[in-house]
Amino acid sequence: MIIRSTELEATTVRPDQWPKTMLPEFAFLGRSNVGKSTLLNRLLNRKQLARVSSQPGKTRQINFYLINQSFRFVDLPGYGYAAVSKQERQRFAAMIDRYLNDRECLRRIFHLIDIRHEPTKDDVAVHAALLELGVPVSVVATKADKIGRSHVPKHVKVIRDTLRTPVDIWPVSAEKRTGLEALWAVMEGDLAE
Ligand code: GDP
Repeated sequence: MIIRSTELEATTVRPDQWPKTMLPEFAFLGRSNVGKSTLLNRLLNRKQLARVSSQPGKTRQINFYLINQSFRFVDLPGYGYAAVSKQERQRFAAMIDRYLNDRECLRRIFHLIDIRHEPTKDDVAVHAALLELGVPVSVVATKADKIGRSHVPKHVKVIRDTLRTPVDIWPVSAEKRTGLEALWAVMEGDLAE
């Protein structure tokens, strides 16, 4: 994908703030600290478009990034951060739910999982809910550089077995910029449909 332009189109806390024009959207979702902001910046070749947080769990909005004036990345708030109050967590969950269920132009959800660890209970529950939506889902196994390359298949299998998922799992390293082309190929396929 040749990135000609990127902009933060909207930072939203309510559905009425979501962009009104319907363009294909790719949503990114994962536990807080999974490496989502870093991955978005690498995919878009930008240093700090998505803010890499020094305070995990701080991002409470849904951010919409407009790319090449033709499609969007949607950055959903990270889940599973214990220091956030239960009430606040429920509020994020409701907001994410609403986006995932109501947004007609949602083309695919990328569910980010840290390749080093077995998916948590939260990851498993979120993934099961995503599979129910009827929208294509892919798993992105982040921070692949943190394990040796020869260990990648084993870790991918643990993720597959724990999530009990039939969907593709793509190992990536934002740090080493590996696996990004494969994600773009998936998105290009979706956009060509
Ligand atoms: P977010 O909370 O999901 O947006 O996660 P961030 O993008 O803020 O990343 C959380 C931490 O993981 C930061 O310290 C990043 O530098 C680190 N990180 C993110 N991606 C990678 C990666 O591909 N490899 C390595 N080694 N570290 C990463």
